[in-house]
Amino acid sequence: MPGYTPMMEQYLKVKAEHKDAFLFFRLGDFYEMFFEDAIRAARELEITLTKRDAGKEEPIPMCGVPYHSASNYIKNLIDKGYKVAICEQVEDPKAAKGVVKREVVQLITPGTVMETNMLEERDHNYIASLSCFHDDSYVIVYSDLSTGESSIALIIEGWDAVLHELYNQPIKEMVISSEMSEKWQEELYEKLHITLSYQDDLTFNAEYRSLCGDLNDERLVQAFSRLLNYIQVTQKRSLDHLQPAKVIELDDYLSLDMYSKRNLELTETIMKKGKHGSLLWVLDQTVTAMGSRMLKKWLDRPLLRQQEIENRFDVVEGFLHGFMERDALREALKSVYDLERLAGRVAYGNVNARDLTQLKQSFEKIPELKTILNQFDQKKITALCSRLTYPDHLVSLLDSSLKEDPPVSITEGSIIKDGYHEKLDTYREASRNGKQWIAELEQKEKQETNIKSLKVGYNRVFGYYIEVTKANLHLLPEDRYERKQTLTNAERYITPELKEKEQLILEAEEKSVDLEYHLFLEIRDQIKACIPEIQYLAEVVGEIDVLQGFATVSEANRYNRPSFSQERLWIRNGRHPVVEQVMKDDAFVPNDISLDQETSILLITGPNMSGKSTYMRQLALTVIMGQIGCFVPCEEAELLLFDQIFTRIGAADDLVSGQSTFMVEMLEANHAISNATDKSLILLDEIGRGTSTYDGMALAQAIVEHIHDHIQAKTVFSTHYHELTVLEDTLDHLKNIHVRAEEYEGKVVFLHQIKEGAADQSYGIHVAKLADLPAELIERANSILEQLEKNDQPQLNGTGQLSFFGQEEQVNEKKKPVNQSASNLINYLKHMNLFEMTPMDAMNELYRLQKQA
Ligand code: ADP
Repeated sequence: MPGYTPMMEQYLKVKAEHKDAFLFFRLGDFYEMFFEDAIRAARELEITLTKRDAGKEEPIPMCGVPYHSASNYIKNLIDKGYKVAICEQVEDPKAAKGVVKREVVQLITPGTVMETNMLEERDHNYIASLSCFHDDSYVIVYSDLSTGESSIALIIEGWDAVLHELYNQPIKEMVISSEMSEKWQEELYEKLHITLSYQDDLTFNAEYRSLCGDLNDERLVQAFSRLLNYIQVTQKRSLDHLQPAKVIELDDYLSLDMYSKRNLELTETIMKKGKHGSLLWVLDQTVTAMGSRMLKKWLDRPLLRQQEIENRFDVVEGFLHGFMERDALREALKSVYDLERLAGRVAYGNVNARDLTQLKQSFEKIPELKTILNQFDQKKITALCSRLTYPDHLVSLLDSSLKEDPPVSITEGSIIKDGYHEKLDTYREASRNGKQWIAELEQKEKQETNIKSLKVGYNRVFGYYIEVTKANLHLLPEDRYERKQTLTNAERYITPELKEKEQLILEAEEKSVDLEYHLFLEIRDQIKACIPEIQYLAEVVGEIDVLQGFATVSEANRYNRPSFSQERLWIRNGRHPVVEQVMKDDAFVPNDISLDQETSILLITGPNMSGKSTYMRQLALTVIMGQIGCFVPCEEAELLLFDQIFTRIGAADDLVSGQSTFMVEMLEANHAISNATDKSLILLDEIGRGTSTYDGMALAQAIVEHIHDHIQAKTVFSTHYHELTVLEDTLDHLKNIHVRAEEYEGKVVFLHQIKEGAADQSYGIHVAKLADLPAELIERANSILEQLEKNDQPQLNGTGQLSFFGQEEQVNEKKKPVNQSASNLINYLKHMNLFEMTPMDAMNELYRLQKQA
C-alpha cells in the first residue's frame, strides 16, 4: 500500500480482517471511519462526510462519531443488520514509538448484542447457524445469548423446508459455511433479511461437552460447534453462560409453511409489518416479557398431541372461572421481572447489583403467586403451581447481602449490607471511627483556638485539612498546624495526626470497595450455579402468564373451548378473531363451517369484498388457536387435529405486483399439493386470478381435482369462476357454498353470510359503486354490461388470450382507436373480469378506453 501514511496503513490492515463490518477506528476522542465505510456510515447515520489527507494525492472520505456517544450510533447500525468492529488504541499514546498500536477489541453483531437497550424486550434475539450435509439434511441451531438458551432442529425434507422453518423467526444473524451456494445465501438474505456470518471450523471443542448433553447425532454436534466456534472467536470470551441445547422434534408440531405464517398474519401484518392487526396482537394478554416471548413461540409451533392441548385448555378454563383470582394473579405477575434475561446476564457476567435486586424482588413474588394459584379450583393449575419452587436459599443470600437500593456501578461500593461480611464491617468501622475522630477534632480545635469559623474539610487533591479564614489568622498560635494551601480568603492546614487518620480512612475505604466488588462477584457466582433453577422458574412463570392471557382474551372476546374429533370439523357461529376486533358494535357476522369425510372440499363463490377470504382465514386461525391451547372465537366447535396448514390467500399487495402474482400463486399451490396429507388443511383463495381467464380457470380446476383425488386434505377453495361450481356434480366430496349478497335499491348489500350452493349473480359494478366511482361512469358501465349480455361470445386469439381488436391488431392494441370495431369492444368489455379488478383497476381501464374512443 505505497503512499499511505503509516496510520492509514495500519487502518487498512485491520480493515482487511473485518471486511463485513463497519470499522470504528479510535482516534483521540472519536471513532473514525474511512473510504467506503465512511460513505455508507454517513448515509446510514446521517452524519457529515468529510475528507482526510492520507498521504496520497487525493484526500480520502472520512466520517466520525464522538467516543462518548458512540453507543447510539452502534445501536442504529446493529438495528439495521450491520456489524461493527471496535478498534481501540491498546497502548498509551505517550509511550508509543511511531503509530499507536490498535486492535479490534470487540465485534458487535446483531446476534451477539447483550445490552438491554439493543434488545427487544418481548422478543427473542437469535443468533442461528445453518449447516448442510451431504445427505441433503440440514441442521438449524437457534441461540439466544441474552437468555443463554439454545435449540436445534434437524430437517430432512430439503432446502425449501429450511426456508419455511426459518421464516418469521426472530433471527438477527446467521452463521453459515463460506462455501454455501450463492443462490441459497441470497435467499437467506433477500427473502428472510438475515445478516449472514461465516464460520467453517466445525471442530468440537472439549469445552462444549456439557452444552451438547443430549445431542445424539453427529450432524447436530457439528452444527452446534459451528455456532459456538463463531461466538468464541468473535466475542473473545468463554461460553459458560450458555445452557445445554434442546432438540426440537419438528414432527411434534403443527407445521406452518412460510406462506401461511405470512398470509395468516400470525405475528405481524403483511402490509405494515407490525404486530398491530396480527393474531398475536389479539392474543397477547401476557403481562411479563417471558410470557410474551413464550406466546410467540407457541404460535410458531402449535401442538399436535391432544392430551397436551387439553392440559392447556384445562388451565385456561380454571383461570376463566376464577375471575377475581385471575386479576390478582395478573397483578402479581406484573412485579416479576424478566427472570430469563436476568439469569442470562448473571451467566454472561454483565449483571449489576440492581439486576440482582430485581431478581430477588421477583423471587419474593413466588409465595404470593403460589397462594393465588392455589385458590383456583382446578387440578392442572395446582400442578402448575407445584412446579413453581421458591428459591429461598437465593432469596436469603440476596436479602442478607445486598443493600436495598444499590448503585448501577459494581466497582464503587455501597452494594453490600452491614453485617454480611466481618472484614467489610471492620473496614467500615475503621472508616467510621476515623470520620468520627475528625468530626470531633473540629469541635476540639474550635474550642482551643477560639476560632468559631474553623472547619475541617476534605478534597480529592489535598485530603483532609483544617481551614481558617484570613480574618481569624491572628487568633491562631504560631506553629500549631502545618500550612498546606493558600486561598484568597483562607489558609488550609494539616497536622500529622490528621494525616494519619486520613490514611486510615482512605485505606479502609479502598479496601472495603475492593472487598465489596469481590463479594459481589462471589454472590453472582453462587447465583450462577443456580441458573437452571432460575430458568425453569422463568419457564413456569411464562407458561402461567400465557395461559392466564388466554383466559383473559377468551373472556373478553367470548371464546369457547373446542373439543377434538377424529371425523369432522364443525364450528357454529365462528368469527375472525382479528377482523371482529377492528369492527365496531359487534358488526361481524358469524358463520358456521363443516368439513368431514363426506365433504372434504368446500368451493366458495361470491362477489369480491363479500367476505370469502375472511371466512377462510378465520378457519385457519381458529384451528391454530385451538392447537396452541387457546379457546376459539365461536359458540361451539369440534376441531380436527391438523398436521399442516397450507394457504394461498390473495394479499392486498399482490394486486399491485402484477404478473409475478401468478408465479407466487403457483409456488404456493405447488408447495401445498406436494406436501399436504389427508390430515392437512389447505386454503386456496382465488387461485388463478393472476393469469388470463382460461389459464387460471383450467389450473384452478386441475388443482381442485388433484386434491380431491390424491390428497384428500380438508380444503376450502374460493373462486370467482362461476364455471367451477359445476365440479360439485363430478367430485363426490366437493360442496358449493357461497357468500350471500342482496341487491337493495340498485345497490348490492353484502350480508357476509355463508350459504349452501353456488352464488348466482355478479356484482362487480356494484363494488365499483361502493368505492364511490362517479355515477356517470357507473351508469355507462351498466349500459355496457346490458349490451354485453345480449351480445356474442369472445374471440380467442392463437395464444388462447381474449382478443379485443381481432388477430392482426393484437400487437399494438393499446394504441388502436376503440371505434375501429364496436363489437370487439363489446366483447372485450364483456370479458373484462371485474371480479379480478380493484375499483382502481376498473377506473384505469375505463379511462384508457375513453382516451382511445
Ligand atoms: P373477499 O375475499 O370476498 O373479497 P374479504 O374477505 O376480503 O372479501 O372481506 C372484505 C371485507 O368485508 C373485510 O375487510 C371485512 O371488513 C368485511 N367482512 C368480511 N367478512 C365479514 C363478516 N363475516 N362480517 C362482517 N364483515 C365482514
